[in-house]
Amino acid sequence: MIMPRYTGRFAPTPSGPLHFGSLVTALASWLDARAVNGHWQLRIEDTDTPRSSRRAVDTILRQLEAFGLYHDGAVCHQSERHDAYQQALDRLHEQGVAYPCSCTRRELQGYRRYPGWCRTGPCHPERELAWRLRTDTGPSVISWQDRRLGTQRWPLAEQGDVILRRRDGIWAYQLAVVIDDAAQQITDIVRGSDLLDNTPWQRYLQLALGLPAPRYLHLPLIVTASGQKLSKQNLAPALPFEGAAPRRLLHQALAALGQRPADELARAPVARQLAWAVAHWSAENIGSAAHYPTPGPIDDC
Ligand code: GLU
Repeated sequence: MIMPRYTGRFAPTPSGPLHFGSLVTALASWLDARAVNGHWQLRIEDTDTPRSSRRAVDTILRQLEAFGLYHDGAVCHQSERHDAYQQALDRLHEQGVAYPCSCTRRELQGYRRYPGWCRTGPCHPERELAWRLRTDTGPSVISWQDRRLGTQRWPLAEQGDVILRRRDGIWAYQLAVVIDDAAQQITDIVRGSDLLDNTPWQRYLQLALGLPAPRYLHLPLIVTASGQKLSKQNLAPALPFEGAAPRRLLHQALAALGQRPADELARAPVARQLAWAVAHWSAENIGSAAHYPTPGPIDDC
C-alpha cells in the first residue's frame, strides 16, 4: 500500500495575533512535517467573520515569516468554503446525523450539554435554525491513538450534540475543520490539548462522512508561572516579529517542546535554529507541561 505523504497544517483563528502558545503549536507541527520531508499547509479559520480581521491575518502571516515557518501551497481561507460545508451538512442531514435546532442560548441556560429537545424536529420551526450533530445514535465510544497521550476512549453521547452551523448562519469550527482537513489531505494534526475534547466530535464526523482519519498529537498547554493557560482570552502578549525577539522566542519555544537546544543557539538566526531543530526533532521528548518563559531582555542575542 502506498502511504500518503505526510501533510501537516497550522490552522489559526484570526481573531488576534499569534502568541507564544500559538508559536509552540505552529513550530511543533512544522517540525513534525519537515523532519520527515512532509508538506505543511496553512489554513485561516475565519468562519466567524465578526471575530476575524484582515489585519490579524496579515499579522499572523508576518509572524510566521519572521519565525521562518513557511508553508506549502496556497493558504486556505475557511470564509471561502461555504459550498463544501453545505454539501457535507446536507449529507449528514440525509443520514440523520445532523438536525435543525431552534433552541436559544437563553432556553438552554443551566444545561451542561444540549438536552436533545429538537432531535425529532425543531420545537419552533418558524425561528432561524441552527444545526446540531446527533450523538445519541452514533457509536457509543469514539477511540483513537494520540501520539503523546496514548489510547483515547471518549463516550460520544456524553460529549453532547454540538453545533455544526449557528443560527446566524456561521459555520462552526467542528464541521469546517473536518471538511478542510480532508480537502487538504492532512495526514497529521499537531495542536494544543485544549482541543483534545473536540476530537471525538471530529472523529465521529469523519466516520459519518467516510473521510480518512488523520493521526493526532495533542501538545501540552503552555501555562504562565501562575498556572494560567496562555490564550488570547487572557490577553497573552502578541509575538513580536522584529529585531532579535524571534531568535530568543524560537529558542524558548524549542525548549518548551522538550527539544533541549544548546544555549548558544539562542543567538543564531531563526533559519539555523530551525535547521538544527529539524535534524534533532523528537516528538517523544515533548513533556507534559510547558511553561511560558519569563520575559527577559531581548537585545542580548
Ligand atoms: N483554529 C483553531 C485555533 O486557532 C485551531 C484548530 C485546530 O488546530 O484544529 O485554536
